[in-house]
Amino acid sequence: MPQPKKEREKFLYLYGPVPSRRLGLSLGIDIVPHKNCSYDCIYCQLGRTGYKTTSRKEYTPVRGILEEIKTAVANKQRIEYITFSGSGEPTLHSGIGRLIDGVKNITSIPTAVLTNGSLLHHPDVRNDLVHANVVLPTLCTVNQEMFIKIHRSAPQLDIMEIVRGYIAFRRMFKGLIWLELMIIKGINDKPHHMTEMISVIEEIAPDKIHLNTVARPPSEEYAKPVTAEVLESIKAILGSRCEIIAEFKPTEKGRGDGETSESILSIIQRRPVTIEDLIEVTGLTRSEITERIEQLIKEGTVISSIHGNRRYYRT
Ligand code: SF4
Repeated sequence: MPQPKKEREKFLYLYGPVPSRRLGLSLGIDIVPHKNCSYDCIYCQLGRTGYKTTSRKEYTPVRGILEEIKTAVANKQRIEYITFSGSGEPTLHSGIGRLIDGVKNITSIPTAVLTNGSLLHHPDVRNDLVHANVVLPTLCTVNQEMFIKIHRSAPQLDIMEIVRGYIAFRRMFKGLIWLELMIIKGINDKPHHMTEMISVIEEIAPDKIHLNTVARPPSEEYAKPVTAEVLESIKAILGSRCEIIAEFKPTEKGRGDGETSESILSIIQRRPVTIEDLIEVTGLTRSEITERIEQLIKEGTVISSIHGNRRYYRT
């Protein structure tokens, strides 16, 4: 008698693996509820921040997350990084240090933390991240006025204090720091904006500088992307460590077996995606993806919008 097909595991805190522009196939760990963040960036692809905070607490249970990671790793899917990111600022989770250490007890897959960096001036946050393999903090400006304009940060945050936190972290951290510069048209895209940051970047001494722009639909319509030419000119100023992070290039496709509308939805819930993104991550054909997307639109779960000549789907 044929065995019923094993139902795909439903995870509360994990998504993917999804193709990431910087981390290849990344198993995302979502440890903070949607848009609990210390910033409300004008370019955020997740919409406006619902709960702006700098308070750290155990938003989600460490043990439950580690159990899910154990299960996902046992599934033998190809995973290149286990990435703490998701739909809020992961360093707000007071258990992130225990989670990073817990992952190391489960698997040798490297860990990455995608962070806005806003809490790195706190010694406890620096200590928590010290065993990660890669930390990817953001730096858009060293000017407090522009910092507020771009990030609409929690009121007590000061960019130079944060920068001092980055420098202190660099001194104690043996892993890789990949600094992300988000460049927004007409806001921080001029050569002098970069030269203002050069000495600070030198002190932070990142292993790489990733140049990014507003590639996906932003929280605010006025946050526009710059052109490839502008990014090239900025790269020339910032030197050889600097790379433009183009659209993701997965090193291998996801398995694709058992992918359903539900798992497609779980990807769309994390960020706006194109049909091409979904083809890459699921391994399904364009018509299979289109069919599922149309169904989700009909159900009112997903909407589409055009940004930079590409159609994106979001919840
Ligand atoms: S882009 Fe990141 S740091 Fe900025 S509001 Fe969105 S989740 Fe927070």
